[in-house]
Amino acid sequence: MKNIILTADRPTGRLHLGHYVGSLRERIRLQKEGNYEEFIIMIADAQALTDNAENPQKVRENIIEVMLDYLAIGLDPKKITFCIQSMIPALPELTAYYMNLVTVQRLFRNPTVKSEINQKGFDNEKTGIPVGFVNYPISQAADITAFKANIVPVGEDQEPMLEQTREIVRSFNHIYKTDTLIECKAILPENPTCYRLPGTNGSNKMSKSIGNCIYLADEPETIKKKINSISSMPRNIDEPGILENNIAFIYLEAFVTDEHFKKYYPEYKNLNELKKAYTKGGIGDGTIKKFLNNVIQDTLKPIRERRHIFENQIPEIIKILKKGTNKAIKLSNETLKEVKKAMAIDYFNDDSFEKNQIKKYN
Ligand code: ATP
Ligand code: MG
Repeated sequence: MKNIILTADRPTGRLHLGHYVGSLRERIRLQKEGNYEEFIIMIADAQALTDNAENPQKVRENIIEVMLDYLAIGLDPKKITFCIQSMIPALPELTAYYMNLVTVQRLFRNPTVKSEINQKGFDNEKTGIPVGFVNYPISQAADITAFKANIVPVGEDQEPMLEQTREIVRSFNHIYKTDTLIECKAILPENPTCYRLPGTNGSNKMSKSIGNCIYLADEPETIKKKINSISSMPRNIDEPGILENNIAFIYLEAFVTDEHFKKYYPEYKNLNELKKAYTKGGIGDGTIKKFLNNVIQDTLKPIRERRHIFENQIPEIIKILKKGTNKAIKLSNETLKEVKKAMAIDYFNDDSFEKNQIKKYN
């Protein structure tokens, strides 16, 4: 079986280092390998609205921002279908059918939904939880299954969503005695540090909604400021440095290569050597941040430069999105047709419906 890859991002802000190591770098690798029949990247605006209903302008503004980030990191519209979620009518329709296969209790057990409810302040009695928000794992199952995707490159916070999707696939295929829907698996980065990159403020996930991000498009001065703002344990320089929960080292772990050592820190060959020396004492956190700044600047410079070029090609980018969305509409409609057939609700496409009803009343 040839792979079908699907992944998505919410247009709630520009993309950041967490996206880069958690999912974007994997997408580039998969694109290079080329071992797929379809590779679909969806801008999940409908999902973004589930917790931004009062702010559609924010979602609208970020569609092109996210596209620019995609193109800037080297995702290629000749090899990938880019589409906009809310423009694909089969998705809410599939969601509606899948909603009957999942209990409300099951949705509330989803650990990512639980922590996001908390993070967004929906647990406050006054605010309450929007139905669309708790329901988003089901709508995500529709996104994935609509294209029969079997591979989904995502960060670790999405694993519970994929588990929910697999449960829906199994119930659907079992209840309707079909093999229409396909089970998917997550592709996580090889390096576990990248499963969930922490924020610059030390919180456990860099996230657009928390505002603790270094964005791919940040200018050099902003990057430097953000790196300098990372807090470190106060200590005398001769005292041993501590690696646990050390955000600067976590970032190094995610980004540094031996080449960076050659270029910016030739006293050490690689991260292991630097870690050993750091935990012995004698290396200040200022030195580490300076090195980290060089590493991140090196990583982001070509991305930022490419982004500036694409910023002059907005009409072409919109054309790419239109073309991709039209293709996604076609592909998902085919699945929807099969789903309705399996559920025996395709009344007008099924001759036996009329025949049996005539027979019944004769
Ligand atoms: P929001 O706060 O609006 O939910 P987000 O920063 O969580 O935004 P998403 O658009 O929800 O970003 O996530 C897109 C993809 O990036 C998902 O696959 C997610 O797992 C991955 N991702 C997001 N943040 C991180 C992170 N800090 N580390 C690793 N992967 C991440
Ligand atoms: Mg998110």
